[in-house]
Amino acid sequence: RQNNLAIKALQTSNQTKNDDFVLEDVPHLTNFLPDLPSYPNPLQKSQAYSIVKTNFVSPEDVVAQNIVIQKESPRGIHFRRAGPREKVYFKPEEVRACIVTCGGLCPGINTVIREIVCGLNNMYGVQDILGIEEGYKGFYSKNTMSLTPKVVNDIHKRGGTFLRTSRGGHDTHKIVDNIEDRGINQVYIIGGDGTQKGAALIYEEVKKRGLQVAVAGIPKTIDNDIAVIDKSFGFDTAVEEAQRAINAAHVEVESVENGVGIVKLMGRYSGFIAMYATLASRDVDCCLIPESPFYLEGQGGLFEFIEERLKENGHLVIVVAEGAGQEYVAAEVHAAGKKDASGNKLLLDVGPWLSDKIKDHFTKFQKMPINMKYIDPTYMIRAIPSNASDNIYCTLLAHGVVHGAMAGYTGFTVGSVNSKHAYIPIARVTERQKTVKLTDRMWARLLASTNQPSFVASDHERVDKEVSKV
Ligand code: ATP
Ligand code: MG
Repeated sequence: RQNNLAIKALQTSNQTKNDDFVLEDVPHLTNFLPDLPSYPNPLQKSQAYSIVKTNFVSPEDVVAQNIVIQKESPRGIHFRRAGPREKVYFKPEEVRACIVTCGGLCPGINTVIREIVCGLNNMYGVQDILGIEEGYKGFYSKNTMSLTPKVVNDIHKRGGTFLRTSRGGHDTHKIVDNIEDRGINQVYIIGGDGTQKGAALIYEEVKKRGLQVAVAGIPKTIDNDIAVIDKSFGFDTAVEEAQRAINAAHVEVESVENGVGIVKLMGRYSGFIAMYATLASRDVDCCLIPESPFYLEGQGGLFEFIEERLKENGHLVIVVAEGAGQEYVAAEVHAAGKKDASGNKLLLDVGPWLSDKIKDHFTKFQKMPINMKYIDPTYMIRAIPSNASDNIYCTLLAHGVVHGAMAGYTGFTVGSVNSKHAYIPIARVTERQKTVKLTDRMWARLLASTNQPSFVASDHERVDKEVSKV
């Protein structure tokens, strides 16, 4: 009886928090085309779904963004749960879908393409699927290719994108004209932040024209810097492949006197790959990321740390994310008058810059010869096929997006939120980037594992320490 009372009390306290419930919903075609007919999901006839009816997701199901609810904290933001619905808003035989990939490469793109094609075909019986070649501009400057399960059967074993990709060339009107001309009614867009902003514009234009076209994005970024979602596809593969570069650096520097290895990894605005690769490897002495400013000289600086580690261990490995220390590199390039006069982009590559700085410091000023080994595995990492766990993740994303489009959702992306797949409004994933929070426990774990300086000591504290040393 006491137990019952406890449960009752709990329910009452939950109810008081209902006011804090927020649903960030995704648009549905019937929001602006209210008279659209719906049809039973063809999956109802399939074995798996006719036996286990609960495999259909109720349109009311939501996924919570905050899974750890602290005392008195609001219930917070929720998203629609992804998955097949009992009703669909497209007759499979009337679907003409297209897939486009834009932006840089990332492991797993081919798996997503393959599984959208196979998902549409095997689960819904959709036959008419077009591949748009070479990114957005392919809508109006290229012919399309027909995608069937047979055509895409092996592509997940290859890196890159089967449909090829490009940057630039987004012309919303021309793209939507083309969608109309070709009679396309489902558009699947795989790409990074820029691509998803483009997808949002396509959705707006389609809505303005009142077309029955579902626009769905699958966010792609190897850096894992997409807000809301747990991780982006290809991230696990990237971290795994980065181990090979770190291992090579470690083998090199262990074999020589005063070996200093530097491995530059991807991460322009967020250091997730560098952080996870460091935590996974255990061979890394110091990890530098964009979110955590560092300094070279003086007490608590990088040079001092390198000297200590060399004296202690005879070698060390530094992992640096491409966006780390950009302020320094940019300032030096400008100070040295290396500004671009002819319109070429400035190369602000932190890897070679940091290698030179360390070499100079130890050979010229410290009179301590070091053996520098610099490795930049960026293109090797981007180009490989996705590993097993990413293949599964890509499959779930692709199936989730297919279920969503068939169910009439539009202007949405898909991703896992606290391990449950959810439909997220496109704008939500493009409005800001996810970065490593230095106050989070993951960064604390990294600092504890490398024992590197935190570089947070203020000048004042550093002076204090120097004085007390004297
Ligand atoms: P990556 O992760 O490689 O940076 P990305 O999607 O951000 O991927 P971009 O080259 O920025 O790569 O953009 C890819 C496509 O999206 C290009 O065709 C580009 O024209 C288009 N695009 C980029 N930004 C926008 C925007 N703000 N509005 C509309 N289209 C955009
Ligand atoms: Mg981008």
